[in-house]
Amino acid sequence: MRTAAIIVAAGRGTRAGGDLPKQWQHIAGKPVAAYAIAQFASHPKIHDIVLVLHPYDIATDRWPRGFDITVVEGGETRAASVAAGLAAVDRQTSHLLIHDAARPLVTHELIDRILGALETHEGAVPALAVTDTLWYGADGQVQGGQPRDGLFRAQTPQGFALDPLRRAHAQSSGDETDDVAVARAAGLDVAIVAGDEDNIKITTPADFARAERLLGNAMDIRVGNGYDVHRFGPGNAVWLCGVAVPHTRSLKGHSDADVGMHAVTDAIYGALGMGDIGQHFPPSDPHWKGAASHIFLEHAVALAAEQGYQISNADCTLVCEFPKVGPHQAQMKAVMAAYMGLQSDRISVKATTSERLGFTGREEGIAALATVTLVKP
Ligand code: MG
Repeated sequence: MRTAAIIVAAGRGTRAGGDLPKQWQHIAGKPVAAYAIAQFASHPKIHDIVLVLHPYDIATDRWPRGFDITVVEGGETRAASVAAGLAAVDRQTSHLLIHDAARPLVTHELIDRILGALETHEGAVPALAVTDTLWYGADGQVQGGQPRDGLFRAQTPQGFALDPLRRAHAQSSGDETDDVAVARAAGLDVAIVAGDEDNIKITTPADFARAERLLGNAMDIRVGNGYDVHRFGPGNAVWLCGVAVPHTRSLKGHSDADVGMHAVTDAIYGALGMGDIGQHFPPSDPHWKGAASHIFLEHAVALAAEQGYQISNADCTLVCEFPKVGPHQAQMKAVMAAYMGLQSDRISVKATTSERLGFTGREEGIAALATVTLVKP
């Protein structure tokens, strides 16, 4: 089986709002059509991609470059656009998937289900059984019911063996509404495979919001790391992750020297690509002398929220011989979680010694490392 994909992006639909056809409007910084192209381009069993464009779009920068695709000019109707794509498919191709560029959420799993069914059928299409009750309506009134048994909502990509589909298109009257109708009119057997509720066709502004949510969840995840060290000096307690732990010394620093909280704070700034504690709270500024470190942490958390990110989790490791962290771990997690507005099971505070090696082993100071994950929901 050698499979090509035709992605039909020649429509002019602007029902979704905006001036651009919907497939060229942006979701999370990229045109709608780019997502489907990327899914087919990265699928190991898709050998060629033909992108069918409206003649006006070919010379514009609307469509995504950087993919190995063949671009062809579409026709007046969807059928004419598919026919233009068919003409551009290379000779070794045995099977074809036809996809609507306005469905950005197509997945490799869905493509696999269709390819699997094409091993035993001339056609295979994804669809979802209708589960809502159906009515006829007119003038804002329900006029009657419609049994939903056996009804399906069709999706794309729709898959076909190439030669039978070519023959079907050659015989087509041109009145069929889609490729399945063309194929069935020519007597092809077309199997239904399970569609995907998220594989929506973008039609309205609300569809953009939904697709943005779904794609954003999948894609905008950020990780940051933080590292900090403070030196011991005279005192009787050290601040670690928001808890004053009794000890024979204290940590020295411009602020309260909470090394763990500093590492977590820097990890958040790092994930945002927005500097570090020193940039936001310069040590040269006497205002921050002796400051409680939760001020820094709360600033970073607020900055993340301002940028539309939620903190998913934070993991902090304290490196010291003494004081022993274990007895305070639960309280540290609870305090850090409270400052970050999270459940404490999303915060980890752990400790290790450095086997008496290095500056932490010689008990000259404490080091801390942290990793934080941010997600844009
Ligand atoms: Mg520090």
